[in-house]
Amino acid sequence: MVERSDADSPAETAERYVDPVDGTVWDIDVDFLRSNWRCIWGEGCQGILPERAEALGQGCCSVGAELLDEEAATVEALGLTLDPVRFQFAAQASSGGVLTGDRRATRVIDGACIFLNRPGFDGGAGCALHLAAVDEGDSPIDWKPAICWQLPLKVDVDGNEVRHLRAWRADDWGDDCVAWCCTDRSAEPSAFVGDTPVVESLFEELRALVGPEVAVELRTRLSES
Ligand code: SF4
Repeated sequence: MVERSDADSPAETAERYVDPVDGTVWDIDVDFLRSNWRCIWGEGCQGILPERAEALGQGCCSVGAELLDEEAATVEALGLTLDPVRFQFAAQASSGGVLTGDRRATRVIDGACIFLNRPGFDGGAGCALHLAAVDEGDSPIDWKPAICWQLPLKVDVDGNEVRHLRAWRADDWGDDCVAWCCTDRSAEPSAFVGDTPVVESLFEELRALVGPEVAVELRTRLSES
């Protein structure tokens, strides 16, 4: 069942979806899902720092990944078993671990997440967990912290237990003002260059986020409109 909703920011076009299996109510920013946004890491991404920093190649990994309680042990175990050929900071992981002391985030090494292989690394630049998952024929969703594979999608839960799914905004990154936000189409359209709408290009992620019934309904509705 789908109905229009004005429950979210007026700047967003939200539609309401109710999961027929568990009754979860979703208000979903369909404007963003209809858009042709795509990740442009390595192709003009300016990162999330207070200054534009394309050359660093850090994308949105300039901070450690916040972890759900249930993720810490898995991420820690993966970090200690990744092949150093694919993991630039394997030695630092062995000596100091991959998590912060409170185990709520991944460690930052040299200004970015410990799992981020930097440009020029022989084993491949980018997330070592992502690269290793692909090597194994697995989905990166099964290897990476949720916040990493969900980006640029974000879910907020309001006081009525309604889940709001939308694109990340600049202010989601906290007090340190970001100089550039890839999902801000009006200010920075450079990432809106995909060949397919987000509902297609990120369908696997959407399916994992909202469940198969809502994801399929969403794709059907958006393809009809
Ligand atoms: S999601 Fe946006 S900020 Fe993150 S790497 Fe991709 S383009 Fe850059």
